[in-house]
Amino acid sequence: MTLDIADLAQLDRAHIIHPYLPGSATERVVMISGSGCRLTDSQGRGYLDATGGLWLAQVGHGRTELADVAHAQMAKLEYFTSFWEFSNERAIELATRLASLAPAPLSHVYFTSGGSEGNEAAIKMARYYHHRRGESSRTWILARSKAYHGIGYGGGSATGFPLYHEGFAPMMPHVSHLTPPWPYRTELYGDQPLSPEQVTDFLIRELEERIAEIGPGNIAAMIGEPIMGVGGMLVPPADYWPRVREVLDRHGILLIFDEVVTAYGRVGEWFAAQYFGVTPDIIVTAKGITSGYVPLGALLVGDHVAEVLLRDHGFPMGYTYNGHPVATAVATANLDLIEREGLLARATGLGAFLHAELEAQLGELPVVGEIRSVGMMLAVELVRDRATRAPLPLHPERMPHDVIRRETGVIVRDSAHSLVLSPPLIMTEAEAREVATALRGV
Ligand code: PLP
Repeated sequence: MTLDIADLAQLDRAHIIHPYLPGSATERVVMISGSGCRLTDSQGRGYLDATGGLWLAQVGHGRTELADVAHAQMAKLEYFTSFWEFSNERAIELATRLASLAPAPLSHVYFTSGGSEGNEAAIKMARYYHHRRGESSRTWILARSKAYHGIGYGGGSATGFPLYHEGFAPMMPHVSHLTPPWPYRTELYGDQPLSPEQVTDFLIRELEERIAEIGPGNIAAMIGEPIMGVGGMLVPPADYWPRVREVLDRHGILLIFDEVVTAYGRVGEWFAAQYFGVTPDIIVTAKGITSGYVPLGALLVGDHVAEVLLRDHGFPMGYTYNGHPVATAVATANLDLIEREGLLARATGLGAFLHAELEAQLGELPVVGEIRSVGMMLAVELVRDRATRAPLPLHPERMPHDVIRRETGVIVRDSAHSLVLSPPLIMTEAEAREVATALRGV
């Protein structure tokens, strides 16, 4: 069946259940092709991608090198049965590569098909690890408000937005949410403005109190995005993660970094763990591992955890698509591109350039409270009043990202009263300037 390109949007409405927006939502843009940071829709309109798809298009769109690798692997061996009895050379190749990139001692890899599956696996791993070591009482998971850990019942319960829980009750029990690190919003921590170090003091005190309330012997793990993405690119004070790690270590609680957004160059390192100088017990990754060319996720697991999981009868949790040969082949080729094109250094350099452009073009606007960034994760905080930092009220039918896309063709996202940007790491300086100019105009 060949569809008429003019009918696509109407057929989309008739047959597809899209997440989040109602069926009556404005007609969706139907994207047809992409190259570099540019996209073209079914009406022939052009766009500039300042979100890297959904925070993942590290190497940009339309990379035929990756298509060639997928084609070659499909022609050779597309897939073969259970990953518990069998393995394949592409998965072994990628796992070996990831082990060499990850901080020691994270040299074991568990493959999934995406970030939500990854967080389910990480939470189950943490509980199972303690269970196998004779501490079955360790069932609680510590998370933070404003966290996003996907839409499963495990990771979804750790997600810290009521929107994702409403109507789905009961969510997974034994999850406790802490206050997020968001130094700009000092009202979260009391009446007095605090320095970043004082924000950390507050959060560490809260963490210690929560652990005492639940009982350290009842807690399996804390899960957190090193920089909170969906929450609005919230960058913690530099001493936050080292101090959290120290507290968790003292109580035998595992630390899971959800690096679904932050890994593979986005913050100028392979992993944000390296940026913050903290080694968690498990790192959950997905998205940028293939730059979105095929679905894949990978957990990097500490040897001390893997050793327990691999004992006796092993870790009883498998997916049909663990270690899919085509996905892992594309991931290795994607990592090759990131390395060959120097995209880690580029994320740092271009991120600083884009930050400076945003500062120059938007910094003085009365609705801009703060511009923050790490590498190629950037946010422009929108406020009604710069002095009080009161958030800018947003009209659901005139969300800034919609207006910006319609009026300028630049694709950004809004998140918790901020505009968030995470462009492909290959963006040019001219394109970065175009993004800042478009935001200013709107
Ligand atoms: N974790 C984080 C930090 C994310 O940002 C996302 C998705 O945006 C997920 C997990 C879920 O990943 P997926 O949508 O691949 O299931």
